[in-house]
Amino acid sequence: MSSNNRRTNTNVISKMMNAGKRAVAGVLSFVMDKWNSLHRETKKVFGISLVAGLVLVATVVVLAICLGNVTKKLDSVQAMSSNLQQELDRVTNEMETVLQKGPLTEVPQPTIAPTTAATATPMPTATPEPDKYIVCIDAGHGDWDGGAVKTVNGVEVRVEKDDNLRMAMLFREALKAYDVEVVMTRETDTYLSLSERAGIANAAGADVLISFHRNAYAGTAEVSGVEYWIHNSRPADAESLAQRISAEVVAIGGMLNRGVKYGTIASSKENYAINREANMASMIIELGFISSESDNAALDEYGEDYAKGMAKVVYEWLEEQAQAR
Ligand SMILES: [Zn+2]
Repeated sequence: MSSNNRRTNTNVISKMMNAGKRAVAGVLSFVMDKWNSLHRETKKVFGISLVAGLVLVATVVVLAICLGNVTKKLDSVQAMSSNLQQELDRVTNEMETVLQKGPLTEVPQPTIAPTTAATATPMPTATPEPDKYIVCIDAGHGDWDGGAVKTVNGVEVRVEKDDNLRMAMLFREALKAYDVEVVMTRETDTYLSLSERAGIANAAGADVLISFHRNAYAGTAEVSGVEYWIHNSRPADAESLAQRISAEVVAIGGMLNRGVKYGTIASSKENYAINREANMASMIIELGFISSESDNAALDEYGEDYAKGMAKVVYEWLEEQAQAR
Protein backbone atom coordinates (compact mmCIF):
# COMPACT_ATOMS: atom_id res chain seq x y z
CA MET A 1 0.00 0.00 0.00
CA SER A 2 1.30 3.59 -0.96
CA SER A 3 1.46 6.61 1.42
CA ASN A 4 -1.13 8.39 -0.73
CA ASN A 5 -3.68 5.70 -0.23
CA ARG A 6 -3.12 5.74 3.61
CA ARG A 7 -3.78 9.49 3.73
CA THR A 8 -6.95 9.06 1.72
CA ASN A 9 -8.25 6.43 4.18
CA THR A 10 -7.52 8.65 7.21
CA ASN A 11 -9.49 11.46 5.62
CA VAL A 12 -12.47 9.17 4.97
CA ILE A 13 -12.57 7.96 8.62
CA SER A 14 -12.26 11.53 9.90
CA LYS A 15 -15.16 12.64 7.69
CA MET A 16 -17.32 9.74 8.89
CA MET A 17 -16.62 10.59 12.55
CA ASN A 18 -17.46 14.24 11.98
CA ALA A 19 -20.69 13.20 10.33
CA GLY A 20 -21.53 10.99 13.34
CA LYS A 21 -20.84 13.83 15.80
CA ARG A 22 -23.07 16.11 13.83
CA ALA A 23 -25.85 13.57 13.79
CA VAL A 24 -25.66 13.04 17.59
CA ALA A 25 -25.52 16.77 18.18
CA GLY A 26 -28.50 17.16 15.83
CA VAL A 27 -30.55 14.61 17.74
CA LEU A 28 -29.61 16.15 21.12
CA SER A 29 -30.41 19.60 19.89
CA PHE A 30 -33.75 18.32 18.52
CA VAL A 31 -34.59 16.71 21.88
CA MET A 32 -33.54 19.80 23.83
CA ASP A 33 -35.57 22.00 21.50
CA LYS A 34 -38.62 19.74 21.99
CA TRP A 35 -38.08 19.67 25.81
CA ASN A 36 -37.75 23.47 25.91
CA SER A 37 -40.82 23.90 23.77
CA LEU A 38 -42.87 21.75 26.15
CA HIS A 39 -45.28 23.52 28.48
CA ARG A 40 -44.09 23.94 32.08
CA GLU A 41 -46.94 21.82 33.46
CA THR A 42 -46.20 19.06 30.95
CA LYS A 43 -42.52 19.06 32.07
CA LYS A 44 -43.69 18.77 35.66
CA VAL A 45 -46.03 15.85 34.85
CA PHE A 46 -43.26 14.18 32.90
CA GLY A 47 -40.79 14.63 35.81
CA ILE A 48 -43.29 13.29 38.34
CA SER A 49 -44.09 10.35 36.08
CA LEU A 50 -40.37 9.61 35.72
CA VAL A 51 -39.81 9.75 39.50
CA ALA A 52 -42.93 7.68 40.13
CA GLY A 53 -41.77 5.12 37.57
CA LEU A 54 -38.36 4.89 39.19
CA VAL A 55 -39.93 4.54 42.66
CA LEU A 56 -42.23 1.85 41.30
CA VAL A 57 -39.31 -0.06 39.74
CA ALA A 58 -37.31 0.26 42.99
CA THR A 59 -40.29 -0.96 45.03
CA VAL A 60 -40.76 -3.95 42.73
CA VAL A 61 -37.06 -4.80 43.02
CA VAL A 62 -37.13 -4.52 46.86
CA LEU A 63 -40.33 -6.60 47.03
CA ALA A 64 -38.82 -9.24 44.77
CA ILE A 65 -35.75 -9.50 47.04
CA CYS A 66 -37.96 -9.71 50.18
CA LEU A 67 -40.20 -12.30 48.54
CA GLY A 68 -37.12 -14.34 47.67
CA ASN A 69 -36.05 -14.30 51.34
CA VAL A 70 -39.56 -15.16 52.55
CA THR A 71 -39.70 -18.05 50.09
CA LYS A 72 -36.36 -19.33 51.41
CA LYS A 73 -37.66 -19.02 55.00
CA LEU A 74 -40.88 -20.83 54.04
CA ASP A 75 -38.82 -23.61 52.46
CA SER A 76 -36.78 -24.08 55.63
CA VAL A 77 -39.96 -24.06 57.77
CA GLN A 78 -41.46 -26.64 55.43
CA ALA A 79 -38.32 -28.76 55.75
CA MET A 80 -38.52 -28.53 59.55
CA SER A 81 -42.17 -29.54 59.55
CA SER A 82 -41.34 -32.43 57.23
CA ASN A 83 -38.65 -33.58 59.69
CA LEU A 84 -41.13 -33.29 62.58
CA GLN A 85 -43.66 -35.33 60.63
CA GLN A 86 -41.04 -38.02 59.99
CA GLU A 87 -40.12 -38.08 63.70
CA LEU A 88 -43.82 -38.33 64.62
CA ASP A 89 -44.27 -41.21 62.19
CA ARG A 90 -41.23 -42.97 63.65
CA VAL A 91 -42.53 -42.56 67.26
CA THR A 92 -45.99 -43.72 66.20
CA ASN A 93 -44.48 -46.79 64.55
CA GLU A 94 -42.45 -47.55 67.66
CA MET A 95 -45.53 -47.21 69.84
CA GLU A 96 -47.48 -49.53 67.57
CA THR A 97 -44.63 -52.05 67.64
CA VAL A 98 -44.53 -51.90 71.44
CA LEU A 99 -48.31 -52.30 71.62
CA GLN A 100 -48.20 -55.26 69.24
CA LYS A 101 -45.33 -56.81 71.18
CA GLY A 102 -47.19 -56.28 74.49
CA PRO A 103 -48.75 -59.72 74.89
CA LEU A 104 -45.52 -61.40 73.73
CA THR A 105 -43.47 -59.89 76.56
CA GLU A 106 -45.81 -61.25 79.17
CA VAL A 107 -44.50 -64.05 81.30
CA PRO A 108 -45.75 -67.24 79.68
CA GLN A 109 -48.49 -68.82 81.71
CA PRO A 110 -47.76 -72.30 82.98
CA THR A 111 -49.21 -75.01 80.85
CA ILE A 112 -52.72 -75.74 81.93
CA ALA A 113 -52.96 -79.23 83.25
CA PRO A 114 -55.56 -81.58 81.82
CA THR A 115 -58.89 -80.94 83.46
CA THR A 116 -60.41 -84.38 82.96
CA ALA A 117 -59.12 -85.71 86.27
CA ALA A 118 -60.09 -82.49 88.04
CA THR A 119 -63.66 -82.51 86.78
CA ALA A 120 -63.96 -86.15 87.76
CA THR A 121 -63.27 -85.22 91.38
CA PRO A 122 -66.58 -84.36 93.01
CA MET A 123 -66.80 -81.17 95.03
CA PRO A 124 -67.72 -81.79 98.66
CA THR A 125 -71.47 -81.98 98.73
CA ALA A 126 -72.09 -82.86 102.38
CA THR A 127 -73.24 -79.80 104.27
CA PRO A 128 -71.23 -79.78 107.49
CA GLU A 129 -72.94 -79.25 110.82
CA PRO A 130 -72.67 -75.55 111.65
CA ASP A 131 -70.88 -75.94 114.99
CA LYS A 132 -68.33 -78.52 113.87
CA TYR A 133 -64.77 -77.64 113.05
CA ILE A 134 -63.87 -78.30 109.46
CA VAL A 135 -60.40 -79.50 108.52
CA CYS A 136 -59.49 -79.70 104.84
CA ILE A 137 -56.74 -82.19 104.05
CA ASP A 138 -54.86 -81.91 100.77
CA ALA A 139 -52.61 -84.66 99.45
CA GLY A 140 -50.20 -82.86 97.13
CA HIS A 141 -49.81 -83.81 93.45
CA GLY A 142 -51.59 -86.84 91.92
CA ASP A 143 -52.07 -88.81 88.72
CA TRP A 144 -49.61 -87.60 86.01
CA ASP A 145 -48.11 -85.12 88.49
CA GLY A 146 -46.01 -87.36 90.70
CA GLY A 147 -44.12 -84.61 92.52
CA ALA A 148 -40.67 -85.51 93.83
CA VAL A 149 -39.32 -88.93 93.00
CA LYS A 150 -36.76 -91.22 94.62
CA THR A 151 -34.88 -93.25 92.04
CA VAL A 152 -32.39 -96.06 92.51
CA ASN A 153 -30.30 -96.95 89.45
CA GLY A 154 -32.76 -95.02 87.28
CA VAL A 155 -35.78 -96.88 88.65
CA GLU A 156 -38.50 -94.97 90.56
CA VAL A 157 -38.76 -96.57 93.95
CA ARG A 158 -40.82 -93.91 95.70
CA VAL A 159 -43.11 -91.14 94.37
CA GLU A 160 -44.18 -88.13 96.43
CA LYS A 161 -47.86 -88.22 95.39
CA ASP A 162 -48.24 -91.67 97.06
CA ASP A 163 -46.54 -90.62 100.33
CA ASN A 164 -48.74 -87.50 100.42
CA LEU A 165 -51.96 -89.50 99.93
CA ARG A 166 -50.94 -92.09 102.54
CA MET A 167 -50.23 -89.32 105.07
CA ALA A 168 -53.52 -87.55 104.24
CA MET A 169 -55.47 -90.77 104.84
CA LEU A 170 -53.67 -91.38 108.15
CA PHE A 171 -54.47 -87.82 109.24
CA ARG A 172 -58.14 -88.21 108.32
CA GLU A 173 -58.26 -91.45 110.29
CA ALA A 174 -56.65 -89.78 113.32
CA LEU A 175 -59.15 -86.88 113.21
CA LYS A 176 -62.00 -89.38 113.67
CA ALA A 177 -61.13 -89.34 117.37
CA TYR A 178 -62.30 -85.72 117.51
CA ASP A 179 -65.52 -83.91 116.79
CA VAL A 180 -64.19 -82.60 113.49
CA GLU A 181 -65.58 -82.57 109.95
CA VAL A 182 -62.95 -83.59 107.39
CA VAL A 183 -62.91 -82.53 103.75
CA MET A 184 -60.42 -84.24 101.41
CA THR A 185 -59.26 -82.61 98.19
CA ARG A 186 -58.49 -86.10 96.84
CA GLU A 187 -58.81 -89.67 98.15
CA THR A 188 -57.49 -91.40 95.06
CA ASP A 189 -54.66 -90.97 92.56
CA THR A 190 -56.21 -88.01 90.77
CA TYR A 191 -54.87 -84.61 89.74
CA LEU A 192 -56.23 -81.24 90.87
CA SER A 193 -54.82 -77.78 90.21
CA LEU A 194 -53.65 -75.75 93.20
CA SER A 195 -56.58 -73.36 92.73
CA GLU A 196 -59.01 -76.27 92.76
CA ARG A 197 -57.50 -77.51 96.03
CA ALA A 198 -57.80 -74.11 97.71
CA GLY A 199 -61.24 -73.75 96.15
CA ILE A 200 -62.47 -76.95 97.79
CA ALA A 201 -61.30 -75.71 101.22
CA ASN A 202 -62.91 -72.29 100.63
CA ALA A 203 -66.19 -73.79 99.37
CA ALA A 204 -66.36 -76.07 102.43
CA GLY A 205 -65.76 -73.12 104.75
CA ALA A 206 -62.85 -75.00 106.33
CA ASP A 207 -61.20 -73.66 109.49
CA VAL A 208 -57.85 -75.21 108.64
CA LEU A 209 -56.20 -76.40 105.42
CA ILE A 210 -53.20 -78.71 105.62
CA SER A 211 -51.43 -79.73 102.42
CA PHE A 212 -49.05 -82.68 102.63
CA HIS A 213 -45.92 -82.70 100.50
CA ARG A 214 -42.44 -84.11 100.54
CA ASN A 215 -39.18 -82.36 99.79
CA ALA A 216 -36.34 -83.55 97.57
CA TYR A 217 -32.64 -82.70 97.46
CA ALA A 218 -30.71 -83.34 94.27
CA GLY A 219 -27.20 -83.12 95.73
CA THR A 220 -25.13 -85.82 97.36
CA ALA A 221 -25.24 -84.35 100.88
CA GLU A 222 -27.68 -85.81 103.38
CA VAL A 223 -30.39 -83.14 103.63
CA SER A 224 -33.40 -84.00 105.76
CA GLY A 225 -36.09 -82.59 108.03
CA VAL A 226 -39.63 -81.21 108.10
CA GLU A 227 -40.64 -77.75 106.86
CA TYR A 228 -43.89 -75.85 107.43
CA TRP A 229 -44.65 -73.24 104.75
CA ILE A 230 -47.18 -70.50 105.54
CA HIS A 231 -48.36 -67.24 103.96
CA ASN A 232 -45.86 -64.40 104.35
CA SER A 233 -48.19 -61.62 105.47
CA ARG A 234 -51.21 -63.12 107.22
CA PRO A 235 -49.50 -65.78 109.30
CA ALA A 236 -50.89 -64.81 112.72
CA ASP A 237 -53.17 -67.84 112.99
CA ALA A 238 -51.30 -70.20 110.65
CA GLU A 239 -48.02 -69.47 112.40
CA SER A 240 -49.24 -70.48 115.86
CA LEU A 241 -50.74 -73.69 114.45
CA ALA A 242 -47.57 -74.53 112.48
CA GLN A 243 -45.43 -73.98 115.59
CA ARG A 244 -47.74 -76.28 117.55
CA ILE A 245 -47.55 -79.04 114.92
CA SER A 246 -43.75 -78.76 114.54
CA ALA A 247 -43.30 -79.08 118.31
CA GLU A 248 -45.48 -82.21 118.28
CA VAL A 249 -43.50 -83.80 115.39
CA VAL A 250 -40.23 -82.99 117.19
CA ALA A 251 -41.60 -84.67 120.32
CA ILE A 252 -42.48 -87.81 118.36
CA GLY A 253 -39.02 -87.78 116.76
CA GLY A 254 -37.55 -89.42 113.68
CA MET A 255 -37.06 -86.27 111.59
CA LEU A 256 -35.17 -83.02 112.05
CA ASN A 257 -37.17 -79.82 112.43
CA ARG A 258 -36.35 -77.30 109.69
CA GLY A 259 -38.92 -74.89 111.11
CA VAL A 260 -41.80 -72.66 110.03
CA LYS A 261 -41.08 -70.75 106.81
CA TYR A 262 -42.78 -67.78 105.12
CA GLY A 263 -43.62 -67.24 101.47
CA THR A 264 -41.85 -69.51 99.01
CA ILE A 265 -38.39 -71.05 98.78
CA ALA A 266 -37.66 -68.59 95.95
CA SER A 267 -38.87 -65.44 97.74
CA SER A 268 -40.42 -64.51 101.06
CA LYS A 269 -42.29 -61.83 99.09
CA GLU A 270 -44.28 -64.48 97.21
CA ASN A 271 -46.63 -67.18 98.39
CA TYR A 272 -47.45 -70.69 97.31
CA ALA A 273 -50.78 -70.69 95.49
CA ILE A 274 -52.56 -72.86 98.03
CA ASN A 275 -51.63 -70.50 100.90
CA ARG A 276 -52.38 -67.46 98.76
CA GLU A 277 -55.82 -68.64 97.66
CA ALA A 278 -57.05 -70.28 100.85
CA ASN A 279 -59.31 -68.15 103.04
CA MET A 280 -58.38 -69.91 106.30
CA ALA A 281 -55.28 -70.82 108.32
CA SER A 282 -53.34 -72.92 105.85
CA MET A 283 -49.94 -74.53 105.51
CA ILE A 284 -47.89 -76.88 103.40
CA ILE A 285 -46.12 -79.55 105.44
CA GLU A 286 -43.04 -80.89 103.67
CA LEU A 287 -42.85 -84.09 105.65
CA GLY A 288 -39.18 -84.89 105.19
CA PHE A 289 -37.09 -85.40 102.06
CA ILE A 290 -37.97 -88.26 99.72
CA SER A 291 -34.27 -88.19 98.77
CA SER A 292 -33.33 -88.94 102.40
CA GLU A 293 -33.25 -92.58 103.48
CA SER A 294 -33.58 -91.60 107.14
CA ASP A 295 -36.62 -89.36 106.46
CA ASN A 296 -38.28 -92.13 104.43
CA ALA A 297 -37.63 -94.65 107.21
CA ALA A 298 -39.04 -92.20 109.81
CA LEU A 299 -42.16 -91.58 107.71
CA ASP A 300 -42.77 -95.29 107.33
CA GLU A 301 -42.18 -95.91 111.04
CA TYR A 302 -43.84 -92.82 112.61
CA GLY A 303 -46.35 -91.77 109.95
CA GLU A 304 -49.33 -92.85 112.04
CA ASP A 305 -47.89 -91.21 115.16
CA TYR A 306 -47.32 -87.96 113.26
CA ALA A 307 -50.94 -88.10 112.08
CA LYS A 308 -52.27 -88.70 115.59
CA GLY A 309 -50.08 -85.97 117.08
CA MET A 310 -51.18 -83.50 114.38
CA ALA A 311 -54.87 -84.38 114.88
CA LYS A 312 -54.54 -83.76 118.62
CA VAL A 313 -52.84 -80.36 118.33
CA VAL A 314 -55.07 -79.21 115.46
CA TYR A 315 -58.16 -79.95 117.54
CA GLU A 316 -56.67 -78.26 120.62
CA TRP A 317 -55.74 -75.25 118.55
CA LEU A 318 -59.24 -75.04 117.05
CA GLU A 319 -60.75 -75.13 120.55
CA GLU A 320 -58.42 -72.35 121.71
CA GLN A 321 -59.25 -70.26 118.67
CA ALA A 322 -62.99 -70.67 119.31
CA GLN A 323 -62.63 -69.71 122.98
CA ALA A 324 -60.55 -66.66 122.10
CA ARG A 325 -63.34 -65.41 119.80
ZN1 LIG B 1 -44.79 -81.58 96.50
